[in-house]
Order: sequence, then structure tokens, then C-alpha cells
Amino acid sequence: MSFIHDDFLLSTKTARRLYHTFAAPEPILDYHNHLPPQDIAGNRQFKNLFEIWLEGDHYKWRAMRANGVPERLITGDAAPLEKFQAWAATVPHTLRNPLFHWTHLELKRCFGIDELLNESSATRIWEEASRQLATPEFATHGILKKFRVTALCTTDDPTDDLRHHKAIAASDLATRVLPAFRPDKALAVHQPENFNRWVNQLAAASNVDIRNLPGFLDALRRRVEYFHANGCRLSDHGLEQAYADFCTEKTAAEIFDSARLGTAATPASHRQFASFIMLFVGRLYAEKGWTMQLHLGPLRNNNTRLLRTLGPDTGFDSIADFPQAQPLSAFLDRLDTENALPKTILYNNNPADNYAFAAMTGNFQDGTIPGKIQLGSGWWFLDQKEGMEWQLNALSNLGLLSRFVGMVTDSRSFMSFPRHEYFRRTLCNLLGRDVENGELPDDDALIGPMIRNICHANAKQYLALPA
Ligand SMILES: [Zn+2]
Repeated sequence: MSFIHDDFLLSTKTARRLYHTFAAPEPILDYHNHLPPQDIAGNRQFKNLFEIWLEGDHYKWRAMRANGVPERLITGDAAPLEKFQAWAATVPHTLRNPLFHWTHLELKRCFGIDELLNESSATRIWEEASRQLATPEFATHGILKKFRVTALCTTDDPTDDLRHHKAIAASDLATRVLPAFRPDKALAVHQPENFNRWVNQLAAASNVDIRNLPGFLDALRRRVEYFHANGCRLSDHGLEQAYADFCTEKTAAEIFDSARLGTAATPASHRQFASFIMLFVGRLYAEKGWTMQLHLGPLRNNNTRLLRTLGPDTGFDSIADFPQAQPLSAFLDRLDTENALPKTILYNNNPADNYAFAAMTGNFQDGTIPGKIQLGSGWWFLDQKEGMEWQLNALSNLGLLSRFVGMVTDSRSFMSFPRHEYFRRTLCNLLGRDVENGELPDDDALIGPMIRNICHANAKQYLALPA
């Protein structure tokens, strides 16, 4: 039997029945990822496994470094095939790391390859994948069709002109490809050089002469309108913690002016300004009926030496232990007090925060929208079997699993859609075990619809993406 077989991860008879009957048939709605929209607009055809699989994947890079592979073969100037061989030689060393599962699940689901990847199978697998990648079914549109992706949301800067999204919308692609609004750079008054460069881009994109804070806020509002007109219904924020050092508009304006003149905000002023802007955009999202995603908790750029040579987002971020509950509560409460709390999805990076975040969601459910405040799927260091189980268990124990909007790939690779399958198998495995232990009724009419909803329908209803 091949390693990835029909009942992979499904350890009970009930789990197998639940998965194959209710989870597997559901299509995919991937509402948070980092796929480049230009690759979809241009119906990109990838040449080889390096381009589609290795090029931007810092999970694989970290494993290769841990395996003693020199940087030349990871992000350096080695040829693509040489880098792939270095990855292939690393794979047998990833046993029990989720990379071992993902690698073989992705090879199987994308190319039908059953062979385990290692040094001796590398060339065969490279050639077989390259052969298939050259066919039209493996251009990006074909891949989206193959994995039955009904809709996906990319991650986009507010200054983006969304030309690729417009081109996709005008094409005959059946998958809805929508932008998501990620305004992290709007908070960066502590880095005036970056901030000013970005404010100037924002001025150009929004056609607003940004002379002061009101101009800046007007420009942000116009970009929200523009994104909305182009189908955007979600925002995304990557933060260490929620910001809850509230200040007056006058104080925010002074911090803004000072950053515009090139003075870096102090940590305290930065937090005040960020709090002000987060409230401002939060209110806009509520007004528009958007969903706000908060990705909280990473400790970034830990390695100074490699940050200098490789830059950010190259695999040197990890889990932080910032206090989360109190500022998150204060931020959500402030919006709620103003009747301006949007639908919100909370993602924690530190597994120690699972229960605190799950409990937090319950404070702001208000009887308007089922599961209005969501505990997001296992994220980054937690998007593996154990992390998914922790998330599902925390949510089950403190909230309503039945209202969960489900999995996202959060990926930069078009080969990552099987992560939804991985999640669904994990979900059905948990439920199947509970049924067989007598902790849940053996009642498909009760459990089946819940599984279907978590796989697709809940997200569809909750996000209310434009048709
Ligand atoms: Zn993300």
C-alpha cells in the first residue's frame, strides 16, 4: 500500500466513513493565502518543482538548514535542480515533521506520484513532475479547477492597483479570486523612511494630497472603497499584539506630522498611533460588512546575520510570548462599545494562547451573526495535525465548533491546496474517535452537516463574498 492511501490519517471506521461521505466531496474556499495574483491573471505555467514548490517556501528552507544544507543550495545561486536534490535528500530527515506528510500528500494529489521523495528518487520525480507541469492542466487555472477551488482571497497592499484581480475577474476562470486588504504599513510611524515612502504611494494610489492625518485617513477610506468595489470583503493584519493604547485624534495627528518630517515615533507613540489607525479601519470594516483577520504573535527577524544577507521572511521568524489577552480584549471591546466591531477571525501563533483566544471570542459574540468572532485555523507553526487538533479542541471546549469557518492554506504555493484535505482528515479523525468512544452520537444526520459546513458552507455564508 502506498504511504498516502485513501484512509491516510483516518484511524477508525467511523472517521473513514465521515471523511469520504461528508468532507471529501466539498469544494475549497481558501479565504486567506499569499498566492501572487499575477500568476493567476497570466495563467502561469511552472517549469519544474523548484518554481512551484521550493522557490518561496521558508518551511522547507528551515528544515534544510536544520539538516546542515549550505545556504547556497537553499536560497543561494545553485541551479534549481541542485536545490531540489538538496531538498529531496532532506525529506527522509523530516520524519514526524509535517513537511513529511505535506510533501507526499502534495506529490500524490498534484501529480499522482506515490514514490517517497529522497536522494535516489529525486531525478525521477523531478522529471515526471516537469512533464506534467508542461501540460495545460498544470497552468494555474487548471490547478484551481483540479482542486475545485470556488473562491480564494489573496493578500494585498492598500496601494495595489488590483490590475491583476481585474484581469482575472474579466477572464473566464470559474474560481472567484478576490483581494484582501493588508494595511500593516499604515502603522509604521516608528520607521519614518518606510512609512513616508508608503504614504507617498498611498497618495498616488488614492489621488489624495496627503498633507496631514485627515488626508491620510481619507486616502485609507478611499482604498477600502476601491478594494470593496473590486470584491474585497476581508482585511488582514499581521501584528505582534493587538494595539490598545488609545489616544485622541490630536495626538495621532502630532505623531503623524512628526513621522512625516522624518522623526521616528517612540515605542509608546507608535503604539498610540497604531491603536488609532486600527480603530479607524476597524470601524470601516464594520461599516462595509467585511471580516477582520488578526494574525497575532510572531517574533520576527531573530537572526541578525542572516537578515542582513537574505532579508526578511526567509525563515528566521518564530513564536513569541507577548501578552495577548488584555490588549486584544481592550481593542475588541472599544469597537464593540461603539457598535463598530466587524466580523473578526483571531489567529494565534503561540499554542499557549489557544484557550485564551478561544475564550476571548465568546466575549464579543452578539447574536447577530453565527460565530461572529472566530478562532482561526491553526496558523504557521500550528498548521499541522497536532496544532489543528489543539485548535479544534480549544474551539470545541470553549465555543461552537459547528460554526467554525474552517481551514485556509496561508500559502505562497499553488501545490498547497491539499492542506485542506489534511485538515479535513484531521477533523474527521477526531470526530470518528469521539463517536467510537461513545462521546458523540453515532448519527450521520447530526454530524454530517456539521462537517460539510466546516469544510465549506460556513465560510461561504460568513464571509458573504460577492457572487
Ligand atoms: Zn498569511
